[in-house]
Amino acid sequence: MERAAIIPGNAAAVVLPFLGKGRKITRCVRGPGSPGGGRDSVVGVSVLRILKQARRLARNGGKWKYDSFGRCASCGQVAFFVNDLSMRKWMAGLTAPWDLSAGFKTALADRENGFCLDCFANIRMRAHAATVLRLLGMTRVGELVSRLRRDRSFRFYETAAYNIFRARGLRELPGYLVSEYFDDLPPGTLRNGVRNENLECLTFPDGYFDVVANSDVLEHVHHPDKALSEIRRVLRPGGFHVFTVPVDLELERTRDRARAVDGKLVQLLPAILHGDPIREGGIPVLRDFGRDILEYLSRERMSCREELHYRNGRPVASVYYARKDA
Ligand SMILES: [Zn+2]
Repeated sequence: MERAAIIPGNAAAVVLPFLGKGRKITRCVRGPGSPGGGRDSVVGVSVLRILKQARRLARNGGKWKYDSFGRCASCGQVAFFVNDLSMRKWMAGLTAPWDLSAGFKTALADRENGFCLDCFANIRMRAHAATVLRLLGMTRVGELVSRLRRDRSFRFYETAAYNIFRARGLRELPGYLVSEYFDDLPPGTLRNGVRNENLECLTFPDGYFDVVANSDVLEHVHHPDKALSEIRRVLRPGGFHVFTVPVDLELERTRDRARAVDGKLVQLLPAILHGDPIREGGIPVLRDFGRDILEYLSRERMSCREELHYRNGRPVASVYYARKDA
C-alpha cells in the first residue's frame, strides 16, 4: 500500500499555489545583444490537473520533495516541480568510476532532477524548452503548437524521440519531427514509427528547418564537426540550433575519450557510458566538454552562445544555441 508523504513542506505545497506563491525563475544570457530575465507565469490554472499532481505528490511515499510551482515550459501546464530525494545518491553511484570533477557530478544530478509532476520533464528539458521558446519570441509551448498548425512551412526537428516539448497534440503535427539513431537501419527509414537519422549525414534537404534541437547528444557523435555542419545545412537562414551537453567546468579544454577511426572507436581514456532510453547498457561518451565549449562548438560557422538558467538564485542548467546567418 502506498503511504502518505512525510516530508515537511509537501502538504504546504498543495496549498501555496492557490495563494499565488509560485517561486521566481530567472535566466541570463552570456554573450552580447541578448535579452535576459523572465518569470514563470501562474495564470490559467487547471485545478483538475493540479489536483492530479497533488495526488501524485501525496502518494509518492516520501521519495519526492516539493521544490516550486509554476508554468512548465515543456508541457505548458501549471505544475508542481519536485526533487527526487534519491537522485544525488543514485547519480553518485552511477558516476563513481568517472574521472570527472565532483562539482560536475553534483550539477549533473541536480539538472536531471526538479521534474514537472504533470509531464515529468526535468530541469534540463524545461530549461531547453524555455530557451527555444524565448528564441522564437514565444512564452508558452501553446504558441509553438499554434504556429505549427497555421504555418505549414514552419518546421521543428528534435534529434531524440524522448522530446523536450510534451504539449498534447504536438507530436502529431507534420511540422514537428523527431528521430533517433539506429545504427542497423538505413537513414530516413522508420522503426516503431520513429525515424532513423544519423546526425553526421541527415536525409533532409538544405534549409528545411526553423529549429533543430538536441539534448545531450553531441558528446556521443563520432565527428562533431560533421554533425554541426549537417545541422547548419538543414537549417533555414535565421534558424536556430538549440542544444544541451554536459560540461565539466573544471576541465580547461574539451578532450576526446575515444576517436572514430575507419568507423571503429579507439579508446583514449577509460570508457564512460551514459544511460540511454533505446540502448540497453547505455551509450559511450566520446568526449568531455570543458570551459572552451563556446569556442569548440562555434567551429562550423555558427557562433555559439550559452543561456544559463537559475532556480531560486542558483544556476541549474545551461542551454547552448547558435543562429544560422540570415
Ligand atoms: Zn510539464
